[in-house]
Amino acid sequence: METLYPALIIDALSTVRYPGSGKTIVELGMVEDDIRINGRHVDFTLLFDKDTDPFKASLVKSAQAAIKLAAGKDVDVEIRTAARRVAPVKEEKPVLPGVKNIIAVSSGKGGVGKSTVAANLAVALAADGYRVGLLDADIYGPSVPKMFGLENAEIYMHEVDGKNLIIPAERYGVKVLSIGFLIDPASAAVWRGAMASNALKQLIEQADWGELDYFLIDMPPGTSDIHLTLVQTLGITGAVVVTTPQQVALADARKGISMFRDSKINVPVLGIVDNMAWFTPEKHPDEKYFLFGSEEDVDALAQEFDVPVLARIPLVAAVGEHSDAGKPIVLEPTMSAQAFVHLAHETVDAIDRRNDNLPPTTKVKVH
Ligand code: ADP
Repeated sequence: METLYPALIIDALSTVRYPGSGKTIVELGMVEDDIRINGRHVDFTLLFDKDTDPFKASLVKSAQAAIKLAAGKDVDVEIRTAARRVAPVKEEKPVLPGVKNIIAVSSGKGGVGKSTVAANLAVALAADGYRVGLLDADIYGPSVPKMFGLENAEIYMHEVDGKNLIIPAERYGVKVLSIGFLIDPASAAVWRGAMASNALKQLIEQADWGELDYFLIDMPPGTSDIHLTLVQTLGITGAVVVTTPQQVALADARKGISMFRDSKINVPVLGIVDNMAWFTPEKHPDEKYFLFGSEEDVDALAQEFDVPVLARIPLVAAVGEHSDAGKPIVLEPTMSAQAFVHLAHETVDAIDRRNDNLPPTTKVKVH
């Protein structure tokens, strides 16, 4: 007659396989740590993922038989069954705990005014009293430093809670960092792949962004591995897609929206910005010339995806001139400024609607 001891029971149970898994019930962690031995009586609990496990009865029988085989037929085996306690899912720690909303400003193709929109939107939100950050992630043409007059900005670091963090530059009430600060914009285009991804992650994770209401990211145009890096690094609250009314731009914007909508990326699209919607000559501010396409063309795209057109921004020479001079047009009392202020209000509303109706975006996990 074998003396009963827990290791003997475990050894015996290690011969019982869960059908189809190739693994034993011990390996699968199904034997609860509550084995009690009292003379020739042994009792313990077997844990099952589902209450309705089809092998429950047969596994209890096999376990009893295995113990009797190892320890003797006279052993009285009592097996309870219970549902396995699911370990509570650990709350994912946000990368930027002080940041409330992350907005990707993106476009299907280059040159449609994505950076212009990102810069003016950021300044308009800051002017409304929100705490705003802008990260220029456009590795193919980082233009934010120029638009903020920060081409020669010196970037410093300081220590926060024992960590050395980059201090974002600050201009017009907006905290600004650009991939252009780390690399010469002239050589930016060759910065692809892992190097660019790592540099961007550094600008996000190792920078002191502090408390922000809106953190805007000026994305590279199109769909790239940088987009993947960003959705894996951050839970992006929503995307604003900038396009012109040109058919080629609209076709690429469609691809961009589809990328965010993809079930693997799953970033809500807040709306579309119709940039260069019409041309208005400086001397004839009441005239509108629809050079690239019609409002209906942009509306059709918005309807196709059931998203709003957040704003229409006219093509006005002063917009570009102000950007080139490092002073976004939204700071001047102009018709263009009104359009960007309107965009800021619409974006705030769109974010509020999104947050009311959808759970926070989670980071994309790579398996
Ligand atoms: P992207 O980021 O999409 O490549 P940019 O914002 O750099 O585009 O804009 C491309 C060019 O068009 C720039 O010279 C910019 O000043 C100009 N631009 C953008 N939007 C307007 C506008 N609404 N009116 C006039 N010029 C604009």
